[in-house]
Amino acid sequence: MSHPLFDISGRTALVTGSSRGIGLALARGLLEAGCTVVLNGRDGERLTKAAAELSGDVHTAAFDVTDGPSVAAGIADVEERVGPLDILVNNAGMQLRAPLLEFTDSDWHRIIDTNLTSAFLVGRETARRMTERGHGKIINICSLQSEVVRPGIAPYAATKGALKMLTKGMCADWGPSGVQVNGLGPGYIETELTQPLVDDEEFSAWVRKRTPAGRWGTTDDLVGGVLFLASPAADFVSGQVLYVDGGMTSVL
Ligand code: NAP
Repeated sequence: MSHPLFDISGRTALVTGSSRGIGLALARGLLEAGCTVVLNGRDGERLTKAAAELSGDVHTAAFDVTDGPSVAAGIADVEERVGPLDILVNNAGMQLRAPLLEFTDSDWHRIIDTNLTSAFLVGRETARRMTERGHGKIINICSLQSEVVRPGIAPYAATKGALKMLTKGMCADWGPSGVQVNGLGPGYIETELTQPLVDDEEFSAWVRKRTPAGRWGTTDDLVGGVLFLASPAADFVSGQVLYVDGGMTSVL
């Protein structure tokens, strides 16, 4: 029997960017914990396919998390169709790898919009409703790169470092209204986003050697942290980033 502090059955959760990868695994975990879950992404067809592979009370909402009016309409539609949101996971994100001297203006704006502005837009729209109701949990998917960086990913690290501070700022603004905001920082996890790195044997060996756990993470490794941060067990936890990285951020 599980402890009641971890019981989130009956809650409604929206996971952005959940048609594949980490978001899809987190959505599955929330469904298994008894939540009603809304999948999001830009591609409606891909969302329908993802939803068909899941069991439980699963819904889809296709909208672009970087576009203010689409986000406002999307959140209003989700609350009307599915119900009031108790849990928001700001997961949608992208990676663009290039030497900083060659990084273009348009790529810079694209990655800032996708990884950072999205959390502000979806967070603000959802928190407007959560603060009024006096409760809610927001989990921003940060990264190992909220803390440390490697050559070729400076813009990505800038977005994830800023997302860590946005998490603390949301905690400061919305905490008094009963909304807890935390971050989850995955280490190196095998997904489509990291496929080029997984396929690079030299890089893969470096990850295994550099990680105390001695392996790449899986998307399932991240589920427990999100369930904890979404649960009453974390009612007095806010403004924190929980790194789920096999220990990588702790060692040189
Ligand atoms: P992924 O496999 O590339 O999936 C990204 C998801 O986001 C897709 O469902 C995509 O669907 C959606 N998306 C992208 N842009 C969007 C937009 N503008 N509006 C709505 N949805 C959008 O990525 P992932 O590896 O699972 O990563 C998920 C999150 O974890 C990201 O924030 C990433 O930075 C973070 N993270 C990943 C790792 C890792 O090792 N993989 C490590 C640390 C942190 P559509 O393309 O259909 O819109």
